[in-house]
Amino acid sequence: MHKYGACHKVRMLSFKYRVYPSKKQVLHLNRQMKLAKEIYNLLLDKAKEYYKETGKTFSKFDMNNYIKELKLQKPEFSEIHSQVLQNISKRISDGYKAFFRRVKEKKKGKSVKAGFPRYKKFVCSLTYPQFGFKFKDQRHVYISRIGSVPIILHRLPKGKIKTCTIKKYRSGKWYMVFSNEIMEEEFKSNGKEEVGIDIGLKAFVALSDGQKIESPKFLRKSEERLKLLQRRVSRKAKGSSNRRRAKFRLARLHEKVDNQRSDFLHKLSKEQVGSFSKIKVEKLKIQNMMSNHRLAKSISDASWGKYIQMLHYKAWSAGCEVEYVAPENTTKKCSNCGNKQDMTLLERTYNCPSCGHTEDRDINAAKNIKSTVGLTGSHACGDSASTRPAKDGQAVSLKQELNEART
Ligand SMILES: [Zn+2]
Repeated sequence: MHKYGACHKVRMLSFKYRVYPSKKQVLHLNRQMKLAKEIYNLLLDKAKEYYKETGKTFSKFDMNNYIKELKLQKPEFSEIHSQVLQNISKRISDGYKAFFRRVKEKKKGKSVKAGFPRYKKFVCSLTYPQFGFKFKDQRHVYISRIGSVPIILHRLPKGKIKTCTIKKYRSGKWYMVFSNEIMEEEFKSNGKEEVGIDIGLKAFVALSDGQKIESPKFLRKSEERLKLLQRRVSRKAKGSSNRRRAKFRLARLHEKVDNQRSDFLHKLSKEQVGSFSKIKVEKLKIQNMMSNHRLAKSISDASWGKYIQMLHYKAWSAGCEVEYVAPENTTKKCSNCGNKQDMTLLERTYNCPSCGHTEDRDINAAKNIKSTVGLTGSHACGDSASTRPAKDGQAVSLKQELNEART
Protein backbone atom coordinates (compact mmCIF):
# COMPACT_ATOMS: atom_id res chain seq x y z
CA MET A 1 0.00 0.00 0.00
CA HIS A 2 1.17 3.49 -0.61
CA LYS A 3 0.34 6.77 0.97
CA TYR A 4 -2.16 7.91 -1.64
CA GLY A 5 -4.80 5.35 -0.78
CA ALA A 6 -5.99 2.17 -2.34
CA CYS A 7 -6.66 3.00 -5.93
CA HIS A 8 -4.28 5.80 -6.62
CA LYS A 9 -1.02 5.22 -8.23
CA VAL A 10 2.07 7.34 -8.22
CA ARG A 11 4.56 6.86 -10.92
CA MET A 12 7.59 8.50 -12.40
CA LEU A 13 7.68 9.66 -15.97
CA SER A 14 10.54 11.31 -17.76
CA PHE A 15 10.37 14.07 -20.32
CA LYS A 16 13.26 14.73 -22.61
CA TYR A 17 13.97 17.98 -24.43
CA ARG A 18 16.70 19.18 -26.68
CA VAL A 19 18.67 22.14 -25.31
CA TYR A 20 21.14 24.42 -27.04
CA PRO A 21 23.89 25.62 -24.73
CA SER A 22 26.25 28.25 -26.15
CA LYS A 23 29.91 27.45 -26.81
CA LYS A 24 30.87 29.08 -23.56
CA GLN A 25 28.22 27.14 -21.67
CA VAL A 26 29.41 23.90 -23.25
CA LEU A 27 32.90 24.61 -21.94
CA HIS A 28 31.44 25.16 -18.49
CA LEU A 29 29.37 22.01 -18.66
CA ASN A 30 32.29 19.90 -19.85
CA ARG A 31 34.46 21.23 -17.09
CA GLN A 32 31.82 20.49 -14.49
CA MET A 33 31.38 16.98 -15.77
CA LYS A 34 35.10 16.42 -15.55
CA LEU A 35 35.09 17.67 -11.96
CA ALA A 36 32.02 15.55 -11.22
CA LYS A 37 33.86 12.47 -12.47
CA GLU A 38 36.82 13.29 -10.26
CA ILE A 39 34.71 13.77 -7.19
CA TYR A 40 32.69 10.63 -7.92
CA ASN A 41 35.83 8.52 -8.02
CA LEU A 42 37.27 10.15 -4.91
CA LEU A 43 34.08 9.44 -2.99
CA LEU A 44 34.00 5.88 -4.19
CA ASP A 45 37.61 5.47 -3.15
CA LYS A 46 36.83 6.76 0.32
CA ALA A 47 33.77 4.56 0.61
CA LYS A 48 35.79 1.49 -0.37
CA GLU A 49 38.47 2.32 2.14
CA TYR A 50 35.88 2.84 4.85
CA TYR A 51 34.23 -0.45 4.04
CA LYS A 52 37.55 -2.28 4.20
CA GLU A 53 38.35 -0.80 7.58
CA THR A 54 34.99 -1.05 9.26
CA GLY A 55 32.90 -3.43 7.19
CA LYS A 56 30.21 -0.75 7.16
CA THR A 57 28.79 1.50 4.51
CA PHE A 58 29.93 5.05 4.19
CA SER A 59 26.68 6.92 4.83
CA LYS A 60 25.36 9.80 2.78
CA PHE A 61 25.99 12.00 5.79
CA ASP A 62 29.64 10.93 5.93
CA MET A 63 29.92 11.51 2.23
CA ASN A 64 28.56 15.02 2.38
CA ASN A 65 31.07 15.80 5.11
CA TYR A 66 33.83 14.34 3.00
CA ILE A 67 32.72 16.54 0.10
CA LYS A 68 33.20 19.57 2.34
CA GLU A 69 36.72 18.39 3.06
CA LEU A 70 37.43 17.85 -0.62
CA LYS A 71 36.20 21.34 -1.43
CA LEU A 72 38.74 22.77 0.97
CA GLN A 73 41.49 20.70 -0.61
CA LYS A 74 40.46 21.59 -4.13
CA PRO A 75 38.42 24.81 -4.40
CA GLU A 76 37.45 24.03 -8.02
CA PHE A 77 34.96 21.49 -6.71
CA SER A 78 32.90 24.41 -5.47
CA GLU A 79 32.13 25.21 -9.10
CA ILE A 80 29.70 22.30 -9.11
CA HIS A 81 26.28 23.08 -7.72
CA SER A 82 25.81 21.61 -4.24
CA GLN A 83 22.65 19.81 -5.41
CA VAL A 84 24.60 18.05 -8.13
CA LEU A 85 27.17 16.98 -5.57
CA GLN A 86 24.45 15.65 -3.33
CA ASN A 87 23.09 13.65 -6.21
CA ILE A 88 26.54 12.16 -6.77
CA SER A 89 26.79 11.02 -3.15
CA LYS A 90 23.27 9.65 -3.39
CA ARG A 91 24.19 7.64 -6.45
CA ILE A 92 27.19 6.15 -4.71
CA SER A 93 25.26 5.23 -1.59
CA ASP A 94 22.48 3.75 -3.75
CA GLY A 95 25.13 1.78 -5.60
CA TYR A 96 26.37 0.44 -2.29
CA LYS A 97 22.94 -0.48 -1.09
CA ALA A 98 22.31 -2.38 -4.30
CA PHE A 99 25.67 -4.09 -3.91
CA PHE A 100 24.85 -5.29 -0.39
CA ARG A 101 21.41 -6.43 -1.50
CA ARG A 102 22.97 -8.51 -4.26
CA VAL A 103 25.52 -9.97 -1.86
CA LYS A 104 22.65 -11.08 0.38
CA GLU A 105 20.78 -12.57 -2.55
CA LYS A 106 23.91 -14.41 -3.57
CA LYS A 107 24.25 -15.90 -0.09
CA LYS A 108 20.69 -17.15 -0.41
CA GLY A 109 21.76 -18.99 -3.52
CA LYS A 110 20.50 -16.68 -6.27
CA SER A 111 22.73 -16.49 -9.30
CA VAL A 112 23.59 -12.81 -9.34
CA LYS A 113 26.88 -11.02 -9.69
CA ALA A 114 27.70 -8.93 -6.63
CA GLY A 115 29.18 -6.19 -8.83
CA PHE A 116 30.97 -3.70 -6.63
CA PRO A 117 30.30 -0.06 -7.65
CA ARG A 118 32.77 0.91 -10.33
CA TYR A 119 34.95 3.90 -11.02
CA LYS A 120 33.79 6.22 -13.76
CA LYS A 121 35.81 6.86 -16.88
CA PHE A 122 33.62 9.79 -17.75
CA VAL A 123 30.54 11.53 -16.56
CA CYS A 124 28.24 12.88 -19.24
CA SER A 125 25.33 14.13 -17.20
CA LEU A 126 24.64 16.40 -14.24
CA THR A 127 21.54 15.87 -12.13
CA TYR A 128 19.84 18.55 -10.06
CA PRO A 129 17.54 16.88 -7.51
CA GLN A 130 15.41 19.85 -6.50
CA PHE A 131 16.94 23.22 -7.01
CA GLY A 132 19.41 24.73 -9.34
CA PHE A 133 17.16 25.05 -12.36
CA LYS A 134 14.03 26.92 -13.32
CA PHE A 135 12.06 27.86 -16.39
CA LYS A 136 12.51 31.46 -17.40
CA ASP A 137 9.87 31.27 -20.09
CA GLN A 138 8.66 28.66 -22.58
CA ARG A 139 11.93 28.82 -24.47
CA HIS A 140 14.60 29.12 -21.85
CA VAL A 141 15.60 27.16 -18.83
CA TYR A 142 17.92 28.69 -16.29
CA ILE A 143 20.55 26.36 -14.91
CA SER A 144 22.49 27.53 -11.91
CA ARG A 145 26.21 28.05 -12.61
CA ILE A 146 25.57 27.66 -16.33
CA GLY A 147 23.06 30.35 -17.19
CA SER A 148 20.01 30.58 -19.38
CA VAL A 149 19.87 27.82 -22.01
CA PRO A 150 17.45 27.69 -24.96
CA ILE A 151 15.14 24.68 -24.79
CA ILE A 152 12.61 23.21 -27.20
CA LEU A 153 9.50 22.29 -25.21
CA HIS A 154 7.66 20.25 -27.82
CA ARG A 155 5.22 19.17 -25.11
CA LEU A 156 4.87 20.41 -21.55
CA PRO A 157 6.12 18.17 -18.76
CA LYS A 158 3.30 16.77 -16.62
CA GLY A 159 3.28 16.38 -12.85
CA LYS A 160 5.83 17.47 -10.31
CA ILE A 161 9.47 17.78 -11.35
CA LYS A 162 11.61 15.61 -9.08
CA THR A 163 14.95 15.80 -10.79
CA CYS A 164 16.41 17.53 -13.78
CA THR A 165 19.37 16.14 -15.67
CA ILE A 166 21.43 17.79 -18.33
CA LYS A 167 22.99 15.24 -20.63
CA LYS A 168 25.58 15.23 -23.34
CA TYR A 169 25.19 12.70 -26.12
CA ARG A 170 28.03 11.30 -28.12
CA SER A 171 26.77 13.08 -31.19
CA GLY A 172 27.46 16.35 -29.39
CA LYS A 173 23.77 17.09 -28.86
CA TRP A 174 22.54 18.20 -25.46
CA TYR A 175 19.31 17.17 -23.79
CA MET A 176 17.52 17.94 -20.60
CA VAL A 177 15.57 15.16 -18.94
CA PHE A 178 12.99 15.88 -16.27
CA SER A 179 11.93 13.04 -14.06
CA ASN A 180 8.46 13.80 -12.80
CA GLU A 181 6.14 12.34 -10.25
CA ILE A 182 2.63 11.86 -11.52
CA MET A 183 -0.36 10.90 -9.46
CA GLU A 184 -2.86 8.84 -11.36
CA GLU A 185 -6.59 9.10 -11.07
CA GLU A 186 -8.69 6.16 -9.94
CA PHE A 187 -8.61 3.32 -12.44
CA LYS A 188 -11.59 3.11 -14.73
CA SER A 189 -11.69 0.45 -17.42
CA ASN A 190 -12.35 1.71 -20.93
CA GLY A 191 -14.74 -1.22 -21.40
CA LYS A 192 -13.24 -2.38 -24.67
CA GLU A 193 -12.21 -5.86 -25.84
CA GLU A 194 -9.29 -7.87 -24.47
CA VAL A 195 -6.39 -8.79 -26.67
CA GLY A 196 -3.42 -11.17 -26.66
CA ILE A 197 -0.17 -9.93 -28.14
CA ASP A 198 2.57 -12.17 -29.43
CA ILE A 199 5.99 -10.67 -29.70
CA GLY A 200 7.58 -12.01 -32.81
CA LEU A 201 10.74 -12.09 -34.78
CA LYS A 202 9.24 -11.59 -38.23
CA ALA A 203 6.61 -8.95 -37.53
CA PHE A 204 7.10 -6.72 -34.53
CA VAL A 205 3.91 -7.94 -32.87
CA ALA A 206 0.91 -10.10 -33.79
CA LEU A 207 -2.49 -9.50 -32.16
CA SER A 208 -5.19 -12.04 -31.38
CA ASP A 209 -7.66 -9.96 -33.43
CA GLY A 210 -5.64 -10.76 -36.54
CA GLN A 211 -3.51 -7.62 -36.84
CA LYS A 212 0.17 -7.88 -37.56
CA ILE A 213 2.31 -4.86 -36.97
CA GLU A 214 5.65 -4.37 -38.65
CA SER A 215 8.15 -1.82 -37.56
CA PRO A 216 8.03 1.05 -40.09
CA LYS A 217 10.15 0.93 -43.19
CA PHE A 218 12.19 4.03 -42.41
CA LEU A 219 13.17 2.47 -39.10
CA ARG A 220 14.23 -0.77 -40.74
CA LYS A 221 16.20 1.23 -43.27
CA SER A 222 17.99 3.21 -40.57
CA GLU A 223 18.75 -0.03 -38.78
CA GLU A 224 20.26 -1.46 -41.93
CA ARG A 225 22.41 1.61 -42.29
CA LEU A 226 23.42 1.24 -38.65
CA LYS A 227 24.84 -2.20 -39.40
CA LEU A 228 26.74 -0.75 -42.34
CA LEU A 229 28.28 2.02 -40.24
CA GLN A 230 29.16 -0.48 -37.54
CA ARG A 231 31.10 -2.53 -40.06
CA ARG A 232 32.84 0.60 -41.29
CA VAL A 233 34.05 1.46 -37.82
CA SER A 234 35.49 -1.99 -37.29
CA ARG A 235 37.38 -1.82 -40.56
CA LYS A 236 39.19 1.41 -39.67
CA ALA A 237 42.54 1.24 -37.88
CA LYS A 238 42.32 1.69 -34.13
CA GLY A 239 43.30 5.15 -32.97
CA SER A 240 43.08 6.66 -36.46
CA SER A 241 41.18 9.84 -37.11
CA ASN A 242 39.17 7.98 -39.75
CA ARG A 243 37.96 5.63 -37.10
CA ARG A 244 37.10 8.49 -34.81
CA ARG A 245 35.08 10.12 -37.55
CA ALA A 246 33.32 6.85 -38.38
CA LYS A 247 32.52 6.37 -34.71
CA PHE A 248 31.03 9.82 -34.50
CA ARG A 249 28.82 9.11 -37.52
CA LEU A 250 27.75 5.85 -35.93
CA ALA A 251 26.89 7.58 -32.64
CA ARG A 252 24.85 10.17 -34.48
CA LEU A 253 22.88 7.55 -36.37
CA HIS A 254 22.40 5.54 -33.19
CA GLU A 255 20.66 8.48 -31.61
CA LYS A 256 18.54 9.01 -34.68
CA VAL A 257 17.46 5.37 -34.74
CA ASP A 258 16.72 5.51 -31.02
CA ASN A 259 14.49 8.50 -31.58
CA GLN A 260 12.73 6.94 -34.55
CA ARG A 261 12.17 3.74 -32.62
CA SER A 262 10.83 5.56 -29.58
CA ASP A 263 8.50 7.48 -31.82
CA PHE A 264 7.12 4.31 -33.36
CA LEU A 265 6.75 2.60 -29.99
CA HIS A 266 5.07 5.63 -28.44
CA LYS A 267 2.48 5.78 -31.18
CA LEU A 268 1.87 2.04 -31.23
CA SER A 269 1.53 1.66 -27.45
CA LYS A 270 -0.67 4.73 -27.18
CA GLU A 271 -3.03 3.42 -29.83
CA GLN A 272 -3.16 -0.03 -28.26
CA VAL A 273 -3.91 1.00 -24.70
CA GLY A 274 -6.72 3.12 -26.12
CA SER A 275 -8.20 0.24 -28.12
CA PHE A 276 -8.24 -2.55 -25.54
CA SER A 277 -9.31 -2.95 -21.92
CA LYS A 278 -6.75 -5.65 -21.30
CA ILE A 279 -3.54 -6.52 -23.05
CA LYS A 280 -2.02 -9.90 -22.35
CA VAL A 281 1.62 -10.56 -23.07
CA GLU A 282 3.83 -13.50 -22.41
CA LYS A 283 6.22 -13.39 -19.52
CA LEU A 284 9.43 -14.00 -21.28
CA LYS A 285 13.04 -13.81 -20.34
CA ILE A 286 14.61 -11.26 -22.62
CA GLN A 287 17.84 -11.51 -20.74
CA ASN A 288 18.06 -15.19 -21.52
CA MET A 289 17.54 -14.40 -25.13
CA MET A 290 20.08 -11.65 -25.11
CA SER A 291 22.72 -14.20 -24.25
CA ASN A 292 21.88 -15.93 -27.51
CA HIS A 293 24.30 -14.04 -29.70
CA ARG A 294 22.82 -14.70 -33.07
CA LEU A 295 19.57 -13.18 -32.01
CA ALA A 296 20.71 -10.49 -29.64
CA LYS A 297 20.90 -7.96 -32.43
CA SER A 298 17.43 -8.35 -33.81
CA ILE A 299 16.00 -8.50 -30.32
CA SER A 300 17.64 -5.38 -29.06
CA ASP A 301 16.62 -3.70 -32.31
CA ALA A 302 13.04 -4.61 -31.84
CA SER A 303 13.29 -3.28 -28.28
CA TRP A 304 10.37 -5.14 -26.81
CA GLY A 305 11.37 -4.26 -23.30
CA LYS A 306 10.82 -0.64 -24.11
CA TYR A 307 7.53 -1.41 -25.81
CA ILE A 308 6.16 -3.35 -22.85
CA GLN A 309 7.28 -0.65 -20.47
CA MET A 310 5.44 1.91 -22.54
CA LEU A 311 2.29 -0.21 -22.56
CA HIS A 312 2.54 -0.38 -18.80
CA TYR A 313 2.86 3.26 -18.07
CA LYS A 314 0.30 4.35 -20.61
CA ALA A 315 -2.29 1.72 -19.71
CA TRP A 316 -3.57 3.11 -16.45
CA SER A 317 -4.79 6.48 -17.59
CA ALA A 318 -6.28 4.93 -20.74
CA GLY A 319 -8.36 2.48 -18.69
CA CYS A 320 -6.41 -0.55 -19.84
CA GLU A 321 -4.56 -3.27 -17.95
CA VAL A 322 -1.45 -5.10 -18.97
CA GLU A 323 -1.26 -8.67 -17.79
CA TYR A 324 1.44 -11.29 -18.00
CA VAL A 325 0.70 -14.88 -18.83
CA ALA A 326 3.08 -17.80 -18.41
CA PRO A 327 4.36 -19.05 -21.74
CA GLU A 328 2.77 -22.44 -22.25
CA ASN A 329 3.01 -23.99 -25.68
CA THR A 330 1.67 -20.79 -27.15
CA THR A 331 3.14 -21.68 -30.49
CA LYS A 332 2.47 -25.40 -30.42
CA LYS A 333 -1.17 -25.27 -29.41
CA CYS A 334 -4.08 -24.97 -31.81
CA SER A 335 -6.08 -21.94 -30.71
CA ASN A 336 -9.27 -23.61 -32.00
CA CYS A 337 -9.21 -27.10 -30.46
CA GLY A 338 -6.20 -27.17 -28.13
CA ASN A 339 -4.36 -29.88 -30.04
CA LYS A 340 -0.58 -29.69 -29.66
CA GLN A 341 2.04 -30.27 -32.29
CA ASP A 342 5.69 -29.37 -32.75
CA MET A 343 6.37 -26.32 -34.86
CA THR A 344 9.74 -25.48 -36.35
CA LEU A 345 10.67 -21.86 -36.74
CA LEU A 346 10.36 -22.24 -40.49
CA GLU A 347 6.68 -23.11 -40.37
CA ARG A 348 4.88 -19.81 -40.66
CA THR A 349 1.36 -21.26 -40.71
CA TYR A 350 -0.32 -23.39 -38.12
CA ASN A 351 -2.13 -26.29 -39.77
CA CYS A 352 -4.10 -28.32 -37.26
CA PRO A 353 -4.30 -32.02 -38.17
CA SER A 354 -6.98 -32.52 -35.57
CA CYS A 355 -9.63 -29.93 -36.47
CA GLY A 356 -8.36 -28.58 -39.77
CA HIS A 357 -7.86 -25.05 -38.42
CA THR A 358 -5.38 -22.99 -40.42
CA GLU A 359 -3.88 -19.77 -39.18
CA ASP A 360 -0.82 -17.59 -39.28
CA ARG A 361 1.61 -18.95 -36.71
CA ASP A 362 1.95 -15.71 -34.71
CA ILE A 363 -1.76 -14.86 -34.75
CA ASN A 364 -2.47 -18.37 -33.49
CA ALA A 365 0.03 -17.79 -30.69
CA ALA A 366 -1.56 -14.42 -29.84
CA LYS A 367 -4.97 -16.12 -29.58
CA ASN A 368 -3.50 -18.67 -27.18
CA ILE A 369 -2.03 -15.88 -25.10
CA LYS A 370 -5.40 -14.18 -24.96
CA SER A 371 -7.11 -17.31 -23.64
CA THR A 372 -4.44 -18.08 -21.02
CA VAL A 373 -5.23 -17.09 -17.45
CA GLY A 374 -3.09 -14.18 -16.22
CA LEU A 375 -0.26 -14.78 -13.79
CA THR A 376 -1.34 -12.40 -11.09
CA GLY A 377 -5.12 -12.42 -11.15
CA SER A 378 -5.73 -9.05 -12.65
CA HIS A 379 -6.40 -6.26 -10.27
CA ALA A 380 -7.18 -2.70 -11.09
CA CYS A 381 -4.94 -1.29 -8.40
CA GLY A 382 -1.47 -0.31 -9.43
CA ASP A 383 0.21 -2.38 -6.79
CA SER A 384 -0.50 -5.67 -8.47
CA ALA A 385 2.40 -7.09 -10.36
CA SER A 386 0.28 -7.25 -13.48
CA THR A 387 0.40 -3.53 -14.03
CA ARG A 388 4.04 -3.08 -13.23
CA PRO A 389 6.76 -3.77 -15.74
CA ALA A 390 8.68 -6.90 -14.86
CA LYS A 391 12.17 -5.98 -13.85
CA ASP A 392 13.67 -9.21 -15.00
CA GLY A 393 12.39 -8.70 -18.53
CA GLN A 394 10.74 -11.47 -20.49
CA ALA A 395 10.96 -14.54 -23.03
CA VAL A 396 10.85 -18.28 -22.50
CA SER A 397 8.76 -19.66 -25.27
CA LEU A 398 10.54 -17.65 -27.90
CA LYS A 399 13.75 -19.02 -26.53
CA GLN A 400 12.32 -22.49 -26.89
CA GLU A 401 11.45 -21.66 -30.46
CA LEU A 402 14.95 -20.45 -31.10
CA ASN A 403 16.45 -23.58 -29.68
CA GLU A 404 14.21 -25.55 -31.98
CA ALA A 405 15.33 -23.46 -34.90
CA ARG A 406 18.94 -24.16 -34.19
CA THR A 407 18.60 -27.93 -34.17
ZN1 LIG B 1 -7.26 -27.69 -33.95
